[in-house]
Amino acid sequence: MVFDGEAASSLVKELRVSFSSGKTRSYEWRISQVKALLKMMAEQEDEIVDALRSDLAKPPLETVVYEIGMFKNSCELVLRELKQWMTPEKAKTSITTFPSSAEIIPEPLGVVLVISAWNYPFLLSLDPVVGAIAAGNAVVLKPSEIAPASSSLLAKLLGEYLDNSSIRVVEGAVDETTALLQQKWDKIFYTGNGKVGRIVMAAAAKHLTPVVLELGGKSPTVVDSNVNLEVAARRIISGKWGCNNGQACISPDYLITTKEFAPKLVEALKTELENCFGKNPIESKDLSRIVNSNHFARLLKFLDEDKVSGKIVYGGEKDESKLRIAPTILLDVPQDSLIMSEEIFGPLLPIVTVNKLEESFDLINAGTKPLAAYLFTHDNKFKEQFVKNVSAGGLLINDTVLHLVVHTLPFGGVGDSGMGAYHGKFSFDAFTHRKAVLYRGFTGDSSIRYPPYTDTKQKM
Ligand code: NAD
Repeated sequence: MVFDGEAASSLVKELRVSFSSGKTRSYEWRISQVKALLKMMAEQEDEIVDALRSDLAKPPLETVVYEIGMFKNSCELVLRELKQWMTPEKAKTSITTFPSSAEIIPEPLGVVLVISAWNYPFLLSLDPVVGAIAAGNAVVLKPSEIAPASSSLLAKLLGEYLDNSSIRVVEGAVDETTALLQQKWDKIFYTGNGKVGRIVMAAAAKHLTPVVLELGGKSPTVVDSNVNLEVAARRIISGKWGCNNGQACISPDYLITTKEFAPKLVEALKTELENCFGKNPIESKDLSRIVNSNHFARLLKFLDEDKVSGKIVYGGEKDESKLRIAPTILLDVPQDSLIMSEEIFGPLLPIVTVNKLEESFDLINAGTKPLAAYLFTHDNKFKEQFVKNVSAGGLLINDTVLHLVVHTLPFGGVGDSGMGAYHGKFSFDAFTHRKAVLYRGFTGDSSIRYPPYTDTKQKM
């Protein structure tokens, strides 16, 4: 059956009826769906690992940690905290309204749409969905067609485990997403690239629908010469190639270090890469492959440009038949090269060198605001300067990627890397309206607010 505008419209109508019945608002319904998601993750772990192996050759341990483990943590947090999150918050009132009381009531938005990306197809789909459910909404998920095995497994499993009168999956690509985007939603939560982010926001604007846009960018990693180099190199490797072979939104996109220190950094990365992936990393079962031939060709373009010829200091091997590219390091690429102009989103890591590390602030700030920025240093003063001077969705000092797992930190971009945030309670907030309610009685009725505005009143 074709999923067109008509099908999208009747789907939204159906979910509106369900939402209006009030059932998604109850604490019990929300908890039952989150428990069902946890059950699904426990019972279907092997299927999920297989789907990701098929879509990305994702190493099973990466699937278990990032796609399954992190999502289970999100669900368990909801089970522990939801009662408190749902409790209305007392608010102080003003002397002007005396006597009165006030509260802020967390209210579900209604029927919401989640559009997700291919690189972490389970986590990026289910983490926003669990936020929407916890907040008491009806929700439609549109997973990415670029990870087809994961998309169809998500559709099958959510159909089997969840309440389909209020939670649905629509599979498909541009046509289906366009049909969905024509509808009036109460929130759209989109994860993906900024070009489509603009399409989503323009569609949402027609209905004054608020959006969360989880986009990407070029996440820089600044490396000082005073660090524990072995640890720093391993942590860079973990965040780059240990995260879906660099196909992750917060993977280090490029490194910045001093000219003097760069050779040492390259040597340390080479040694640790060999410890992690062996002498022939292109064959390593611990590295995801590139998702498809379009992305493979996109990445090769970065290497084929004249401006970067001779800059590869490690790796560069590729195998088109298997869609594999080895971890690749490039040294001293020019700022105006293609690889330094676009988000890389793959296993290539350029190193930019500067005379003094302080120059990195201008270098980073000259580009669009990244989703993440990392710094490795022992120097507390430089740490402070970095935190003060660099604007990014999130910062992490002396590690990569791990800020993602701290549920008390909001996860989201700024500027071109997105708007809005989620994770932990922030996911609940992203799908909640904080309704302001002021309660008054019939006393304290000051005459000053009522006409006629006499001279006496004006002097009061
Ligand atoms: P993608 O190709 O899967 O696209 C994302 C979604 O947009 C998909 O569901 C797709 O069907 C839909 N889509 C594509 N073209 C469309 C169109 N013309 N109209 C309407 N919908 C359309 O994923 P991608 O964009 O390749 O993902 C990679 C990008 O996403 C990178 O920039 C990455 O940094 C970013 N990303 C961000 C996060 C985050 O949490 N901030 C997470 C993952 C990826």
